[in-house]
Amino acid sequence: MKVRKVKWNRIFLTGGVFLVLLLGILFLVTLFPKERAITLKDLTGMTKSEVEEYGKIEGLQITFIESYDKTVEKDKVISYTPSMDSKLRKGDTVTVTISLGEVPKEVYAKNNVNELGKVPIMMYHGIIDMASNETKYTGGNVDKDGYNRTAEAFREDLEFYYQSGYRMVRLIDYVHGNIDVPLGKSPIVLTFDDGRDDNFKVLGRNEDGSLQIDPNCAVGILEELKEKYPDFQVTATFFVNSGLFQQKEYNEEILKWLVDHGYDVGNHTTTHPDFTKISESEATTAVGKVYQQLDAIIPGKYVPIVALPYGSPYKKSHVNFSHIMHGEIDGYTYQTEAALRVGWDSEVSPFSKNFDPTFLKRVRAYDNDGEEFDIAMVFTSLEKTRYISDGDPDTIVVPEGMEDSVKDTTLEVITY
Ligand SMILES: [Zn+2]
Repeated sequence: MKVRKVKWNRIFLTGGVFLVLLLGILFLVTLFPKERAITLKDLTGMTKSEVEEYGKIEGLQITFIESYDKTVEKDKVISYTPSMDSKLRKGDTVTVTISLGEVPKEVYAKNNVNELGKVPIMMYHGIIDMASNETKYTGGNVDKDGYNRTAEAFREDLEFYYQSGYRMVRLIDYVHGNIDVPLGKSPIVLTFDDGRDDNFKVLGRNEDGSLQIDPNCAVGILEELKEKYPDFQVTATFFVNSGLFQQKEYNEEILKWLVDHGYDVGNHTTTHPDFTKISESEATTAVGKVYQQLDAIIPGKYVPIVALPYGSPYKKSHVNFSHIMHGEIDGYTYQTEAALRVGWDSEVSPFSKNFDPTFLKRVRAYDNDGEEFDIAMVFTSLEKTRYISDGDPDTIVVPEGMEDSVKDTTLEVITY
């Protein structure tokens, strides 16, 4: 009996140890699977060193970007990608933007921030698919007065704007004083008149049914920049007449495509009349009918801005000017927020006391050996006068002594 009892104990003991070992191994296997998924936690409110520590523990690569932000305490997380709860693996990268706090005044001085500086509103018409040396005229001018520009010159213009520190803003945002460009950069506005087919040329349809856009038309060239310079904020406003973009089959789709892809569409009147040569009722029709047309195709998505054909009338006191700004046709009423003239120089800041959105000047995008307000001349003079952003759309930063020239505003005005 004694021997037998000992035997059983041994068996139980060996079995028990084996079982514990087995459970232990199973436990470890569950705890450390080969490809353990990491659920990214919420990094909001963490400090830079806390994020670093978290990255080390989880085996994540953390890339830090630093940015001024007065709404987030210095050294704390402003934002991060990918978002919270993303499933990551060891070695994956998380990009975290850390606040540098409020912009110190010496940074304004170093960047020559001046939000009362001038803004160029560029006026383009046609973009012709040809090289600049194929034209008979100066630079990228396709015609004598340079109203049409070669595709080559247009590409060079855009490269020049980008390299010179200009970033695009929507015309309507400029009109509203909503200027969101990074610290040290300057806003620029692009406009196209006449709804030409070379502004948005459809070649046919892609296999998925979407519009196949000519890569050498204005929008084709602009789209190529979205990929090349993600921070260029590519946009433009296209001013159309009744013929829209002269492509009957695609016109309505083009308008929808534009407003869905960050571009704007405005009013260039039905038949492009000179407002000083038509009656008051004709003026109302010329403006009102285009608004009605846009309202039918892209309701609420066009901009209530008129580009004045020939830049006429040259004075706001002209009797037809009020019909450009507001009117009524058969019960349909319209209200215009801004009107654009033709040529010649940059405009004042939307925060200036002199800002008048109903009579805005534009820069003719043409070449003339640096004279008569061509691109080279205007941008040379802008070097000393241009709007330079503080990077915060909610504040107006100007050098000390200029604050009296800021118009009445709800935004905070900061001097340095
Ligand atoms: Zn025109």
